[in-house]
Amino acid sequence: MNNFLPFSLPDIGEEEINEVVDSLRSGWITTGPKAKRFEEDFQAYLGGGVGAIAVNSATSGLHLALEALGVTEGDEVIVPTYTFTATAEVVRYLGATPIFVDSEVDTLNIDPQLIEAAITKRTKAIVPVHFAGLPCNMNSIFSIAKKYGLRIVEDAAHAFPAKYEGNLVGTLGSDVTVFSFYANKTMTTAEGGMLVSANEDILARARVMRLHGISKDAFDRYQSKKPSWYYEVIEPGFKYNMPDICAAIGIHQLKKIDKFKARRALMANRYTEALSDLPVILPNNGKDVLGTEHAWHLYTIRLSECAGLSRDKFIELMMKEGLGCSVHFIPLHKHPIWRNTYQLTNEQFPVADKAYSSIVSIPFFTKMSDEDQIRVIITMRNILE
Ligand SMILES: *Cc1c(COP(=O)(O)O)cnc(C)c1O
Repeated sequence: MNNFLPFSLPDIGEEEINEVVDSLRSGWITTGPKAKRFEEDFQAYLGGGVGAIAVNSATSGLHLALEALGVTEGDEVIVPTYTFTATAEVVRYLGATPIFVDSEVDTLNIDPQLIEAAITKRTKAIVPVHFAGLPCNMNSIFSIAKKYGLRIVEDAAHAFPAKYEGNLVGTLGSDVTVFSFYANKTMTTAEGGMLVSANEDILARARVMRLHGISKDAFDRYQSKKPSWYYEVIEPGFKYNMPDICAAIGIHQLKKIDKFKARRALMANRYTEALSDLPVILPNNGKDVLGTEHAWHLYTIRLSECAGLSRDKFIELMMKEGLGCSVHFIPLHKHPIWRNTYQLTNEQFPVADKAYSSIVSIPFFTKMSDEDQIRVIITMRNILE
C-alpha cells in the first residue's frame, strides 16, 4: 500500500543523523563521552536533584532498579496487569513474584485501592505504570507505600515528559523512575532507557551492576599503586550500558522534547474535539488533576458498546483505508506465561479485560502531518457515524 500511515514512527532529524555519523567517524562507538553528555543533559532537564543513568533499554533499567532495592526470591512486587510484559518479567529475573492488579476504569492506570488489597507480608515494592503518558494517582500510591513500608519504582516508559501536580515524573520522590527510548516512545535512541533516582546508594549500585559489576570505588584509583588497566569485579553484574551511537540520537531528541510534547498535546486536543460525538470513549487528558500534564505517548480510544462493531473489525476497516492501528495492551493476565504460572483469570481483572476488548491506539506521532490527522478523523467518522 503506497499511502499507508502507520500508527507510530520516530521523528529523526539531520541533527541526530550527523551526531551518529560523528560517533562512527570518531572511533568511539560504545559508551563514552556522548552517553555521559546525554545523562548530564537528561538530569539537567529533570532538575529536582535526581541522578540519571543511561541504559540500553527501559527493561534493563527496571531490572537494575529492583535489583538495587534488594528485591529477591520470596519477595512480591505489585504490578498492573494493564502493561507491557517487561514490567513483570524483570520481577522474575530476580526470582521474585509479580502480583497483578487491575486498573481504574477512567485512566486505565493501576487502581490504588486494589494495590492495598494485594499487599501481603512478602510485598516489597510497587511498580506503577503511567499508561499512555498520564501519571498515576501518585499521592495515593505514596501514602500506601509509606503505610506498609514499600518501595516504588515508576515504570515511566510512556511518561517523558509528564507532570504530576506541577512536578516532572522522575522527580516525584519515588525510589526510582525508569524511562524508555524505544523507537516508538515519546523520544528515542533506537533502543535505550534512563534510570533516575535521588538516592545516591541506588545510583551507585545501578552504575556498578549496569556494567558487569565492575567497581571503580572498590579501591582508590589515585591513591593505590595499581596500573590504569586494573579493575575489580565485585558482583556478577549485567551488560546494560548505552552505546554512544544511541546516546548521539538521544542528545538531539532531548533538545526537541518540548516541541514534541507541544505537538503531541495539540494533536491529542484535535482528536478529542473531532471525535467527541462518536460512539467512543476518549482518553482522560489529565486536566482534572491540577498541574498534571499528559505526555501523550499514545492516543487510545475505546469503542462504546453502541458503536455496533467489534474492536477487531474497526482495526480491519482502518487497515483497509491504509491506517495502521495497534492495541495497548493485551493485559498480562491474558498471556500464557502469566496466566498459567499464576492461575490468573479474566474475572480477576474486569476493568483491564473490558478495556482490552474495546481499545485501539490510533495513528499518533509528531511527524504526522495535519492532513494525515484529518484523514484519520474522516475515516473514523465514516466507519463509526
Ligand atoms: C516500552 C515499554 C517498556 C519497555 O521499554 P524498552 O525500552 O523497550 O525496554 C516497559 N514498560 C512499558 C509500559 C512499555 O510500554
